[in-house]
Amino acid sequence: MASETDAADVVIVGGGSAGAVLAARLSEDESRKVLLLEAGPAYAVDAIPAGLLDASNVADAEHDWGYTSRGNDHQPDVAAPRGKALGGSSSVNATVAIRARANDLAKWASHGAEGWSYEEVLSTFRDLENNPSGDDRYHGRSGPLSVRQRSDEELTPSLRGFVEAAVASGFKQIYDFNGADQNGAGGYPVDVVDGVRQSTAIAYLTPDVRRRPNLTIRGGINVDRLVLDGMKASGVIVDDGSTYAADEVVLSGGTYGSPAILMRSGIGPAADLASLGIDVIANLPVGRRLQDQALIPNGFALAPGYLEMTPAVGSLLWTASSEAVPGDLDLQVTVTHLLPASLSPTGGTVVLAAAVVQPEATGTLKLASRNPKDAPLIDSNYLGTGRDARRMLEGFTLGREIARQPAFAQLTAGEIIPGDSVGDDDVAGYVFNNLAAYGHPTSTAPMGSPYVPWSVVDSVGAVHGIERLRVVDASIIPEVPSTVTNLTVIMVAERIYQRVYAD
Ligand SMILES: Cc1cc2nc3c(=O)[nH]c(=O)nc-3n(C[C@H](O)[C@H](O)[C@H](O)COP(=O)(O)OP(=O)(O)OC[C@H]3O[C@@H](n4cnc5c(N)ncnc54)[C@H](O)[C@@H]3O)c2cc1C
Repeated sequence: MASETDAADVVIVGGGSAGAVLAARLSEDESRKVLLLEAGPAYAVDAIPAGLLDASNVADAEHDWGYTSRGNDHQPDVAAPRGKALGGSSSVNATVAIRARANDLAKWASHGAEGWSYEEVLSTFRDLENNPSGDDRYHGRSGPLSVRQRSDEELTPSLRGFVEAAVASGFKQIYDFNGADQNGAGGYPVDVVDGVRQSTAIAYLTPDVRRRPNLTIRGGINVDRLVLDGMKASGVIVDDGSTYAADEVVLSGGTYGSPAILMRSGIGPAADLASLGIDVIANLPVGRRLQDQALIPNGFALAPGYLEMTPAVGSLLWTASSEAVPGDLDLQVTVTHLLPASLSPTGGTVVLAAAVVQPEATGTLKLASRNPKDAPLIDSNYLGTGRDARRMLEGFTLGREIARQPAFAQLTAGEIIPGDSVGDDDVAGYVFNNLAAYGHPTSTAPMGSPYVPWSVVDSVGAVHGIERLRVVDASIIPEVPSTVTNLTVIMVAERIYQRVYAD
């Protein structure tokens, strides 16, 4: 147990995408004592298990929080994976490295979050990556995170075939989704080098960074709640009752972890807290604006001769539905080999997954109890509006139609999920009974001005009304980007570091 004499200058709770970035950046100043507490294991770089290194192994079950979200009447529980290890979800994710679009970031300003326009953050997106390809206007060559664009030659025949089929259907080919235009189909950029997933535990917490005397990293520490002196944070309390003192606390526990810690500390919706017997310190709308993207799979057997499944990820169609707000790209059809080959009679699979990436429905995250070992109650409210449901049907149908183009169909030996027995007129039943999470939940402690009714933190993550307390992770994103979230979360952590702490 730590004592008051080893108080850190900053304690960071959660060593995931954001927490690892902050630990590395904050400890660059050797006079600042930084303590990083992570609930999962904090493996040394040379001891990271193969399951976390293998970019084709997504949502590793041994390093997952085991959460579920409410689904619907037919499908009550939907798996809500979250990484539990140093690197957090970046240690288990699908490695796709696509940034929020300019149009996504413009929405943040409309919620009162300042300093996050595309023009303001582009240099940070550039500086965080090392990427040998692409236009200098958009890409950095020497940042900590390795990003690699999948070339046409590198894609498997079926991943490439999908892009050709989309082009044959009238879509543009996109050679760089992080460049000027995203509306079309192409290969993914990924944070993978030689098949190894580049989590933030690897990219930011390098052996040199970990050797810094002013940085301490502890794994296996599940933080229960904050130590608060009145309205000021001064440390954290762990689930075994031990405490860690600090001049400042940064919560980087992710979209499900950070709001749970806030609420157990008495910061959240007053009525909910009172009903659990938690003293209310600050009545804030924590957990009231959860956003997540639903995903529906459409699986195919690969034809003999085209059974290649590596790399597993992937190619993408990103476009606007017929109900999109002008300027938005609200649909993605992502194409991977993340479907067990054992499901196919030929021994090879490819799966299209349609997602409504700009859902209008919002959900909630609440505490089930005061016990830090209990999972929170997650209700992602998937397809919670008629427009969300219609757009999902449109996305699923669009992917299925593209799959009928010869460029893709000739590489497959028939649809296996849902299969030919589900005709085009019957897909609604299949879609609503087979929801999955795309894995990009945000906005449970959103940034915004204190006058925005649902905002919890200011434009640099400081919790409204509480001193020495910041949240920096996906939970503070005011509006879910219309794509995957890892690069955007890393950018958020880098920028808050620059805006608040850097000289
Ligand atoms: C299966 C999966 C696939 C995904 N695929 C992609 C993809 O291909 N591309 C992409 O861009 N994004 C992807 N994402 C999403 C992306 O990885 C996340 O948005 C991002 O990692 C979130 O970063 P974060 O810092 O908010 O949280 P996390 O990275 O989840 O970090 C939170 C950390 O806090 C720790 N923690 C939580 N509670 C506590 C506590 N009480 N005490 C101590 N520690 C705690 C957790 O163990 C974790 O390490 C995927 C996510 C998943 C789960």
